[in-house]
Amino acid sequence: MAEYIIETANNKWEVVVGLEIHCQIISKSKIFSPSSTEFGDEPNTNVSFIDAGMPGMLPTLNRECVHQAVKTGLGLNAKINNYSEFSRKNYFYADMPTNYQITQYRYPLVGEGIVTVDLSDGTSREIGIERMHIEQDAGKSIHDLSPTKSFIDLNRAGVGLMEIVTKPDFRSPEEAGAFLRKLRSIVRYLGTCDGNMDEGSMRCDASISVRPLGEQSLRNRAEIKNVNSVKFVMQAIESEAKRQVEIYESGGTVEQQTCRFDQVSGTTKFMRKKEYADDYRYFPEPDLQPLILTDEYINKIKEEMVELPDVKKKRFVEQLGLTAYDAMVICENKETAEFFEKAAEGHDAKKVANWMMGDFFAMLNKKRLDITQSPVSAENLGKLVELVSKNVISGKTAKDVFEIMAETGENPEKIVEEKGLKQVTDTAEIEAIIDKIIADNPENVAAYKSGKTNLCGWFVGQIMKVSQGKANPAIVNKLIREKLDN
Ligand code: MN
Repeated sequence: MAEYIIETANNKWEVVVGLEIHCQIISKSKIFSPSSTEFGDEPNTNVSFIDAGMPGMLPTLNRECVHQAVKTGLGLNAKINNYSEFSRKNYFYADMPTNYQITQYRYPLVGEGIVTVDLSDGTSREIGIERMHIEQDAGKSIHDLSPTKSFIDLNRAGVGLMEIVTKPDFRSPEEAGAFLRKLRSIVRYLGTCDGNMDEGSMRCDASISVRPLGEQSLRNRAEIKNVNSVKFVMQAIESEAKRQVEIYESGGTVEQQTCRFDQVSGTTKFMRKKEYADDYRYFPEPDLQPLILTDEYINKIKEEMVELPDVKKKRFVEQLGLTAYDAMVICENKETAEFFEKAAEGHDAKKVANWMMGDFFAMLNKKRLDITQSPVSAENLGKLVELVSKNVISGKTAKDVFEIMAETGENPEKIVEEKGLKQVTDTAEIEAIIDKIIADNPENVAAYKSGKTNLCGWFVGQIMKVSQGKANPAIVNKLIREKLDN
């Protein structure tokens, strides 16, 4: 495990972090109303009486949201509870027309689970999931349209959320970052949340405390609200941990509090003293029945599960011979893994992976393209690898062919054919070139024979030049030695 310790003159401090992540559920309609969940529609156009909190409205649970949440719970290797129920969490906020949020409190839909995170030093760690429950989202307050007024957009009010709570298992910013990436990868594989942190469909709160290394109990924590990128979560942990260590080291004590992350300074800012569960006056939601799921229902969803990144990664390592690192990178994104499998089909998978990790990803980065927009198709990348494996072209020529593929999207076989790039493997043809070069350079031949054997490389270079890079290097090397050593 990559250690993350803050050392001071007198002490070694470790950081203890737990995360709470709100993931917007992918579903056509909201969790308790038939309104659309479409992102970016005109403000307040997707608002039913239920979302607007009109008197007499009655929420109805959306089956699709439950289905998506169960799928996600299974993806977190978690226990799905046959019995769960809804509660009201009371608070007044302008973007919450009912003045309460329908959520789950004592009996959540999903219980304990485990997510494996992959760290940069090649090791893995298991992070405990405490629970996951489903609830409704609030609307959006807009403060930057007028200097004197605030606006409310209720399109988001009532959209289904999955709130995932981890155990306080993280000991470094890196682990928290790796977890968020893995979680995003899992929900995207499952199609249960789009995982776009910058659009707010995945939002992270981090509870951060520090303690001297070896101390068992947990100290007071600061909760950093709504951080909207993996990088910022990692920065927030780092700066908040430092802040707390400084307080303890100067004889003070950290108060339980809620903060926000300031992107400009990269530090956490105090918002308010921490509220406790009691402050919300939770009580059972009287308008909704408890949610009871049968084992048959849960098992049926188990059968629908796709192969998740960890399992895929293991298969790529064990069956296709990829390194753990390459497999991790390729499996993080479902589309990338699918592209790889398609490209590797019938070809040397390890070599296909090498191409992807090298020139292929570099090309996508340079062109700022998503893998689904790649000008080089999976089939064509596979064909290119095959051309090298079969000695039709050299590895060096393959790089040139790839450049052309990236520009034109053409089939590599066609490019090789049209540009006459086929390797010369005909020994007689190569021998003719060698004989000519030997005849033209008697001094170098003599020097070689008198012991300057490193001149061999010069001869190889000349032959490759005359053949325009098309002579098969292995054959050239073998033949030139035979001739010179004669
Ligand atoms: Mn919540």
